[in-house]
Amino acid sequence: MEIYKQIWDKIEKAENIMLIAHINPDGDALGSSLSLYPILKKMGKKVTVFNATKPLPDYLDFLPNFNKVTDKLPKKIDLTISLDCGSFDRLGLDEKPSFLINIDHHVSNTNYGDINLIEPNHASTSQVIYDILKANNIEIPTDTAVCIYTALITDTGSFQYESVNDKVFECAAEMVRCGVKPDYVAKMLFQRDRLSRLRLLAKAYETIEMCCDGKVAFVEVTKEMMEITGAIKEDTDTIVNSVRAIAPVEIACMLREDDEGIKISLRSKNYADVSKIAVKYGGGGHIRAAGATLKGEFNFEKVKNMLKEDLAKEVKNNK
Ligand code: 5GP
Ligand code: MN
Repeated sequence: MEIYKQIWDKIEKAENIMLIAHINPDGDALGSSLSLYPILKKMGKKVTVFNATKPLPDYLDFLPNFNKVTDKLPKKIDLTISLDCGSFDRLGLDEKPSFLINIDHHVSNTNYGDINLIEPNHASTSQVIYDILKANNIEIPTDTAVCIYTALITDTGSFQYESVNDKVFECAAEMVRCGVKPDYVAKMLFQRDRLSRLRLLAKAYETIEMCCDGKVAFVEVTKEMMEITGAIKEDTDTIVNSVRAIAPVEIACMLREDDEGIKISLRSKNYADVSKIAVKYGGGGHIRAAGATLKGEFNFEKVKNMLKEDLAKEVKNNK
């Protein structure tokens, strides 16, 4: 495809390149950023992998070149490539860079780049990178493959979501041929849990509230719960997914007390579009996974009552 070549042409011509992903990065955000690092270095580029969040989630610390990620902006940048970031404000930058390539798979992406490559049907941004590398006949080193594969696993819930198709498995298979050991990645991601996280889950699960004939479920995480259990922000990442797994639930919603306000995380199972709801509250995401932060004078009850109407409509509208 023409845009894949156009992107590579821009990369070849640039000398100082910054790779950047959304704040509070997940496996796809960091995996996608770091996947390009070894390739660009080998091409002789000066590469900065920037992320505004500190500290970074340590469950991803096995990603090759994880320690290269910095929260300091470089002095000179010719080209910025944003990865897995749906809107400019989530990059954590004050100013728009001189030239920005926006590579993503969020359906809500606002096309804030000078070049925008948005593939909403791709399971991860890393899968888009794989397509770019393939289209340009770029050899994939093992370090890159580990990043692409990890991002695929984390963004598909270990190959469970509707975004998973033959192309996703082809990409994964190719990454294994490039040197990825799937059991190693699985152990790094899923067998290094923290006791504090499990203690937090126990407290959060007690708050589950079902409504709309069990089609909607809410779960709460307060600052107090975090303090008592010693849990950290990333320990809350999968709570909402587990709540969605309850049999009748179509939409699960987690509310979390944050410094900036109340963070909501939405997940749907079969038909509901939660991206639409997140966008309404100033956030964004995918049809089946989206989020937003409500700033201002809110408490859990207020947010729940507000959301209940939207969620009830969404689960009723469809089937
Ligand atoms: P999570 O609920 O895990 O934070 O996020 C689920 C999905 O929604 C992710 O793809 C994430 O990028 C997106 N998302 C979460 N919060 C926000 C937000 O405040 N703004 C936007 N644009 N997207 C968000
Ligand atoms: Mn992603």
